[in-house]
Amino acid sequence: MFRGIMRYMFGRFSPGFLGFLLPLVVLPGLSFGASLQKPTADVNPRECAQMSEPYVTERLAIWQQRLKLEDWKISILMAHPNDLKPKTLGNIHWDADKKSAVIRVLDASDYQLGCRDMLDDMEFTVVHELIHLELSSLPRSDASRRDEEYAVNQIADALLKLDRRK
Ligand SMILES: [Zn+2]
Repeated sequence: MFRGIMRYMFGRFSPGFLGFLLPLVVLPGLSFGASLQKPTADVNPRECAQMSEPYVTERLAIWQQRLKLEDWKISILMAHPNDLKPKTLGNIHWDADKKSAVIRVLDASDYQLGCRDMLDDMEFTVVHELIHLELSSLPRSDASRRDEEYAVNQIADALLKLDRRK
């Protein structure tokens, strides 16, 4: 019987590392239903940084519900490159027994993107890590990690494309 260790970590590699391409088209003025909306034009970096954490927290709640992961207690930590593995934009640690998880998302101050693109990318990290959590009950090996990484990126990309379609 497969018995894994209780704690897992998965990073999200930065674009280019595994040949992953971010969606480049962002529709202006797109509404996201809930209270927080992305700015229609690029706001100044400080304002954008201030809204980034509430924004990803709200997106986490939405995707957690969509992925039926409501029984997990998931929190977000904004992280600097020192807290992340090289060439990663985020990661997730979870404890299957406690059903708790922490998602680390690269902090706004470490991004070099316009506000909307940065918020989109942060949301991608959240969805990516949640899909890892969705798959967490499956057996895995060092050999399957790379394939899982690829599959998780494809699924996250498809979900976000659907979500961002007008
Ligand atoms: Zn990953």
